[in-house]
Amino acid sequence: MNRVILAINAGSSSIKFQAFATEGVVGAGDNLERRVSGLLEGIGSQPRLLIKDGAGATLRNDNLSQAAAPSVEAGEGIVGDWLQSDDAARLIGGPIGAIGHRVVHGGADFSAAAQIDDAVLARITALTHLAPLHQPKNLAPILAWRQRRPDLPQIACFDTAFHRGHAEVAERFAIPEALYLEGVRRYGFHGISYEFIAEKLTEVAPAIARGRVIVAHLGNGCSLCAMQDGRSVDSTMSFTALDGIPMGTRPGAIDPGVVLYLMREKGMDAAALEKFLYHQCGLKGMSGISNDVRVLEASTEPQARLALDHFVYRIAKEIGALAAVLQGIDALVFTAGIGENGADLRARIVAASSWLGLSLDADANAARRTDLSKSATGPRVLMIPTDEELMIARHTRRVLAL
Ligand code: AMP
Repeated sequence: MNRVILAINAGSSSIKFQAFATEGVVGAGDNLERRVSGLLEGIGSQPRLLIKDGAGATLRNDNLSQAAAPSVEAGEGIVGDWLQSDDAARLIGGPIGAIGHRVVHGGADFSAAAQIDDAVLARITALTHLAPLHQPKNLAPILAWRQRRPDLPQIACFDTAFHRGHAEVAERFAIPEALYLEGVRRYGFHGISYEFIAEKLTEVAPAIARGRVIVAHLGNGCSLCAMQDGRSVDSTMSFTALDGIPMGTRPGAIDPGVVLYLMREKGMDAAALEKFLYHQCGLKGMSGISNDVRVLEASTEPQARLALDHFVYRIAKEIGALAAVLQGIDALVFTAGIGENGADLRARIVAASSWLGLSLDADANAARRTDLSKSATGPRVLMIPTDEELMIARHTRRVLAL
C-alpha cells in the first residue's frame, strides 16, 4: 500500500502543501511521486485556494472571502479540512503516513531534520524570538496536526540546518564571545532550497556538484550560498533573514548605525524597526512602487530603474565576496521566483560578474534551459527550479526510514 508523506510549507501569507506517494515509484531511492500540490495564498487579504494533481492539472481554483482566512492559523484549518476530505483521499490514493514541515529557524541546536516530540517542539518554540515573523506561522500547522492526528509522526525540516557546518570564522560576528555562546551567530537560511539544488546538481552536473558553486536563491526572500562539494560554506543571510542582499521588502545588510539613527532621530522602537526592516525596505521601499520585479521592470519611473540597478549591483558584489571565500567558482546557479523567471535580471547579474569568466547564452536564457552558459569552457551558469516541498518529503522519509 502507498504510504503518503505530506509536506507543509507555511509562510507569512501563504501555505504550500504537497502529498507524495512513497511506493510504486520508478527509480525508488529518494524519488517520491507527487500526487497533489496545493497553495492557499493571499491569507489576510484575498485568499485563494489552488489545488493541482500530480501532473500539474488544476483541480480547484477558489477565491475565498477574506473572513474565511484572516490568519495563517485560520488558513491552516481550511487546508487541514481539505486534506482530510474524501476529495483529497481519492487524489492522494493512500493514508497519510507522516508530515514534514518547513521550520525557518533551527538555531544552533538542529543540524538535521528532526522528529517532533514535546522536547523538540519546546526547542523550536523557544527560537521564535530569532524569527518572530516566520516561526509562529511554521508552528501553526505542527500544533494543529498534533491535535488533529496525534498518531502521525511529524518532522521539522530547518532552513538553517544545511548551513550548520560553516567554519567558525564564517559563523562569527566580530562581537564578544558571550553573545556567540548564547546564539548570536551567522546561521544562514533557505537551506531546504539549497540542499535540493545540491542534490539536483549531482544528477544534472555531477562534476560541478563536487566543485565550487554559488547558488542565488532569488524569490520574495533573497540570499546567496557558497557551496563546496555540495556543502554550504557561507551564505549572505546570517542571524536573521534580514542580512545579505536586498529583497522584495527587506534591505539586506545595512550599517547598524542606520538602525541607531532610526532609534534616536525617528524614535523607532523594536516593533517599529521590525516592521520597517521586514516590510518597508528593499525593492518596495527603494522604488516606492512595488516589491515585484515584474512591476518594476514594466515601470518607466526612474526610482523603479534605480531599485533594480541597486539589486543587481549588490548581488554582483556579494557573488564576488563568495567567490573570494571559494577561491574561484565553477558554477553560478539561479533559482526561486526571480532566479527562475527573471531572464533580464539573470542576464544583468551575469554581465556584472563576467570578470569571473561567467557568460550567458541569450537564447538559452530566454528558453529557460538548465545550462545558460555561452562559453563551452570555464564556469557554468545554470538555472535550476527549486523544490522545497520535495526536499521536505525526502527528509521526512529519511528520518522515519519509510
Ligand atoms: P518566490 O518567493 O520564489 O515565490 O518568488 C516570488 C518572486 O518572484 C516575486 O516577488 C516576483 O518578483 C518574482 N517573479 C515571478 N515571476 C517573475 C518574472 N517573470 N520575472 C521576474 N520576477 C518574477
